[in-house]
Amino acid sequence: MLTSIDYNTLFSNINIGIAAIERDGTLCMANKKLLQLLELKENEFVGTPFLEWIYDADDCNILQENHLRRIQGAKDLPQNYDIRLKTKNGYLHVLASVTYFKESGKSFVSVLDTTQLKETRQQLEETIHAQDAILTAIPDLMFELSRDGIYINVWAHNPQELAANKEQLLGNSVTEILPLAAAQTVMDTINHTLQEGSSSGEQIEIQTPQDKLWFELSASLKHNNEAEPTVMILSRNITDRKELEFKLRYLSRHDSLTTLYNRRILDELLKRDIHRAQRYHTPLSVCMLDIDYFKQINDTYGHQMGDRVIKELAALLKNSLREIDYSGRYGGEEFVIVLPETSLSHAHDFAVRLIKTIAALKFQSDTQALFSITVSIGVAELNEKHNSYEALIKAADIAMYRAKDSGRNCVQENLREA
Ligand code: GH3
Ligand code: MG
Ligand code: MG
Repeated sequence: MLTSIDYNTLFSNINIGIAAIERDGTLCMANKKLLQLLELKENEFVGTPFLEWIYDADDCNILQENHLRRIQGAKDLPQNYDIRLKTKNGYLHVLASVTYFKESGKSFVSVLDTTQLKETRQQLEETIHAQDAILTAIPDLMFELSRDGIYINVWAHNPQELAANKEQLLGNSVTEILPLAAAQTVMDTINHTLQEGSSSGEQIEIQTPQDKLWFELSASLKHNNEAEPTVMILSRNITDRKELEFKLRYLSRHDSLTTLYNRRILDELLKRDIHRAQRYHTPLSVCMLDIDYFKQINDTYGHQMGDRVIKELAALLKNSLREIDYSGRYGGEEFVIVLPETSLSHAHDFAVRLIKTIAALKFQSDTQALFSITVSIGVAELNEKHNSYEALIKAADIAMYRAKDSGRNCVQENLREA
């Protein structure tokens, strides 16, 4: 058991301010530390009402009321008070903790200086506000995600770029919010970042309430004190760049006059389909089509009219094809039509029908003259002899010239021996 001398020594040396308050609210004791904190001498403090030292009027009222209720025996009163105390030259932020001793009727108050704590907290809040402001000022979207893909924080300079509004995102997982492919890419980015510390270059397509947008992601790991690390992802809107990319890709694959595949892509696709047909032992046929006497059309109606004829013929070709067929502009007024899973005789029938449809097409010149065109078509099938891209095209070409020689406006098949 400690003696009262021990207690006195303890009170005067302890590094926490301590005061005792009588039932009537008079301060009857203060230790060295408290007087030091308040910059007071003992006789300036002890003997005065404790309320005199409460800096804020609101706190004064609460503390007075609670003091009265406490000595009347109320039990549900708060023990701790975050308040300001008057000092000789100003005030001090403290955490005051009150313990009431019923037997003596005295309240003991321990007083902890929280000025430093308050300042640190304030600085921390300012730092967080600055961080929020910076992250929101960045024109890119910024996300903090958990390892499971849960949105923990979202900063958006342009909120309309978000897949859903911020409140809908927070607490939910990317797999619930984003399209499947995009969610998978984000999860891959998170996993890569957790392993490697950072990640960049992944692209995702998002449907916002207004638009379809493309974003490029860059991520870095955020270490957290006690909690698990999280991943910060910066999401940059690259829709314009992506659209340009698509446009360029389209232009690099399509002929500008007809929008049919250009020769390079035609080669690529046909080579792919030849391999496929050979692997699965399915037939494949090719038609080579050339407009008859096209020079005359240019000469008679002008080059522009010639262009229009090529364009309209291309549109007709597109409309005449099944889903798996495709056509491309092979040269000036020469077209290739690829018919996968089609035998020579079926390709021949198709070409005959096509010739009739083309011959029925009417064009009107600038001088209102109506005219039509005919074409010659050579058909070739992939076989043991014509078993490569080059051989197949050549066989169709030879057949097409045979059609020209046979009077034009007709179809000729390649001869196996040709
Ligand atoms: P043939 O029946 O033997 O095929 O006779 P043709 O007059 O059609 O002869 P050829 O196929 O050799 O000539 C094609 C002509 O098509 C030559 C060229 O001036 C014209 N031409 C090629 N490309 C274009 C084009 O993009 N626009 C226009 N207007 N004419 C083109
Ligand atoms: Mg021609
Ligand atoms: Mg030609």
